[in-house]
Amino acid sequence: MTTPKVLVIDDEEIARISCQRVLKREGIEVRLAAGGREGLEMVVKNPPDLALVDLKMPEMDGVEVVRRIQAHDPNIVSIIITGYATIESAVAVMKQGAYDYLPKPFTPDELLIVVKRGLEKRRLDRESRALREEKEAMERNFVTMVTHQLRSPLSAIMQYFEVMLGNIGGELTDNQREMLERAQQRLQGLLDLINDWLDMSRMQPGDIVSRLRPIAVAECVEAALAALEHAGRDRGITVSSELTPNLPPIHADLQSLKEVLANLVANAVNYNRDGGQVRVRARDLGQQVAIDVEDTGYGIDAKEIPFIFDQFYRGKDKDARRRPGTGLGLAIAQKIVRAHGGTISVSSELGRGSTFTVEIPAASGDVKAGRDAQALP
Ligand code: ADP
Repeated sequence: MTTPKVLVIDDEEIARISCQRVLKREGIEVRLAAGGREGLEMVVKNPPDLALVDLKMPEMDGVEVVRRIQAHDPNIVSIIITGYATIESAVAVMKQGAYDYLPKPFTPDELLIVVKRGLEKRRLDRESRALREEKEAMERNFVTMVTHQLRSPLSAIMQYFEVMLGNIGGELTDNQREMLERAQQRLQGLLDLINDWLDMSRMQPGDIVSRLRPIAVAECVEAALAALEHAGRDRGITVSSELTPNLPPIHADLQSLKEVLANLVANAVNYNRDGGQVRVRARDLGQQVAIDVEDTGYGIDAKEIPFIFDQFYRGKDKDARRRPGTGLGLAIAQKIVRAHGGTISVSSELGRGSTFTVEIPAASGDVKAGRDAQALP
């Protein structure tokens, strides 16, 4: 275990030295700063595990110092030392991210108890972060390994089916053809599942966040619909879009939001009745833009709505069950929408249809300026 490092930021020399003496005896490495600025420089150069910060300092007060320490590295545990332990000052420092406070005057034991508790928190945070990262890395590696190992042989089998169904390996009887077609459909379902699973495990919300930029809603909707141009045509289902003019741009990642909308439209077609309709609309809500995907399909039982965004959940309705699906589409959509800081919801009536609504934050800044920028690329 590495030696814990504590930084004491206090304008009173006696206070600094006495803290140092008490903590050093416990094997803690202590560094001292006589003011906020000097302390913050030390935090940047050599981050401590814990910072003890005096509340009242002439140059920069302790609340501001803690705020800046936390902004720089929220994992550093900050403790405020205060001679004025009022409820208000305690609340103010806790709001800036301080972990604890120590009222003056304090005994060496009181100092040690608070510092040790803070260092223990730091150790536990670090351990749980490391465990979480390890678990995530293992999950990613496992899923990637399994999916690659499964996907390649299945894709090869798929090609054999195509060859056989194309009569290249010889004429098939009607019976053989029917069986092969059914096997091909089941295999396709398995490949879809593996691809969705791979998408789900690969998706890192942080990557989406780093790609967010102002985009025009129309561009995103058109891209999603273009990808599904022929969807539902064989079942007489029509897909159309109506976008209110002058919608503000949204703060989004075009590629992943397009995937969400394409997924919702594909569901709206999949779970529709023959000859049904799918409409995509967008509305300006001020701070957000709402995009609705409305269908005239089977609808969803109110009891099932809380579960449909769960991974692998498939509806119980017998018509919906007959339709192909993996139960991952809405889970992926929700993960993407949340990474945008948005929401996804549904209202539905069994037997009449459903409307899925995605709300995405409008591009920040002057919304009016955003409107003028409607003709974004
Ligand atoms: P999948 O469609 O692959 O099964 P999803 O996560 O996209 O997985 O959807 C989960 C379930 O929610 C579906 O199995 C279906 O029961 C229900 N569902 C989704 N979209 C609709 C819709 N537009 N109309 C009716 N049911 C839907």
